[in-house]
Amino acid sequence: MSQKAKDKFTKHIAIIGGGCAGWSLAAQANKLSAKTISFFIKDETRASHSWGFWQMPWLDNAASHSRKKWHSWEIITETDYVIHQSENHPYCSLKSDEWINWCKQKFHSAKAKTELMLTPVHKTQDNSIITNAGKRHFDAIYDSRPPIAKKDILLQHFKGLEIRVPKPVFNPNTAILMDFRVSQKNGIHFIYVLAYDAYTALVESTFFSSKPHTDETYETAIKIYLKRFYDIDNFEILHSESGIIPMGDTLKQDLNPHLLAIGSNGNAIRPSSGYAFSFIQKQISSFVNRKSTPKTPHKIYDLWMDRVFLAVLQSNPKKAPGLFINLAQALNGDAFARFLSGSAKIGDYIRVIGAMPKWLFIYHAFKVLTGIDKKEHR
Ligand SMILES: Cc1cc2nc3c(=O)[nH]c(=O)nc-3n(C[C@H](O)[C@H](O)[C@H](O)COP(=O)(O)OP(=O)(O)OC[C@H]3O[C@@H](n4cnc5c(N)ncnc54)[C@H](O)[C@@H]3O)c2cc1C
Repeated sequence: MSQKAKDKFTKHIAIIGGGCAGWSLAAQANKLSAKTISFFIKDETRASHSWGFWQMPWLDNAASHSRKKWHSWEIITETDYVIHQSENHPYCSLKSDEWINWCKQKFHSAKAKTELMLTPVHKTQDNSIITNAGKRHFDAIYDSRPPIAKKDILLQHFKGLEIRVPKPVFNPNTAILMDFRVSQKNGIHFIYVLAYDAYTALVESTFFSSKPHTDETYETAIKIYLKRFYDIDNFEILHSESGIIPMGDTLKQDLNPHLLAIGSNGNAIRPSSGYAFSFIQKQISSFVNRKSTPKTPHKIYDLWMDRVFLAVLQSNPKKAPGLFINLAQALNGDAFARFLSGSAKIGDYIRVIGAMPKWLFIYHAFKVLTGIDKKEHR
């Protein structure tokens, strides 16, 4: 073996954080050309939840482990609705524990020597990690500890209940991505329904606003929705899930410049939608295949458009249902899936820009270009 080839396998690598990004990278251990990989995770149990994404070329493994795929999805407001169909890019729902178990198997069967360190990282210093067990040096450290949301940015916050109902009311062929026919008084609010079969569905109450609500707010919204649209009073709760996802600027927990940030810490959350799973996989597959360092998985103009869109939403929350329906009406199923997965074509952008209220967007684009939007939210 040449010296160059030997060098390739002398690297000692560390991964911090056993969430989506940490485990998804650990599953790619064979592509990291490392001699050892030490994975630092907190000794904690995280309840399983679902990750939704549109099937794209970089998601073949995840799509093949999906619990269900929908080739049709809807967006609904009080006055309009749009149904999209897509053969190429179905909407998939993946259980987080299924995905992490698959990642675990790949990690433990890797060619490199792998070790799970069940201990939180207290500090890092240059290329070293400090834990209760002491200080250790690595050639590269991938850090997925979540960032902190900046004050006053929009948050996507939600609670979902997977329920079983006594009569067959759900349509398992069509996912409801956003149904705005719910109270808008506590922020931009919609219901997300993934029907696994006619009796079983994940029903989620989701808000975009600057502060999360009590559990009761989401649960009441779900109950009212089920009564109004499905005439359901009683249901069995199979599991519940909740989350808070920052939609916009975040601050890293650890500013050490030697760390390689991945996942939400590496800006993988799409600001305008809160979708992260697809972008985390895109980010990881891009840098492991190119043998480079992690970069944001978003295009510069997607980030710029998202900033304008979020500025419009934050100043005009009542317009949100109309803006989302305009976006959906402007695109067919394939184009909508591409747009939300960061793979839009030029024609998709032109159609979306053409469907938005011109002066409102020009006004907020000006604010974003001049940085006035950030000063206002400081
Ligand atoms: C319930 C729920 C549903 C979601 N649904 C979707 C969806 O449908 N589609 C979608 O695209 N996205 C969805 N998301 C959002 C997105 O997928 C997640 O935010 C994503 O899991 C981010 O992954 P991550 O690895 O960057 O961060 P995390 O998953 O938050 O992982 C960070 C890890 O770092 C660990 N950590 C923190 N501090 C330390 C320390 N000091 N030492 C060691 N470890 C540490 C934490 O314990 C955690 O395990 C959902 C999120 C939630 C919570």
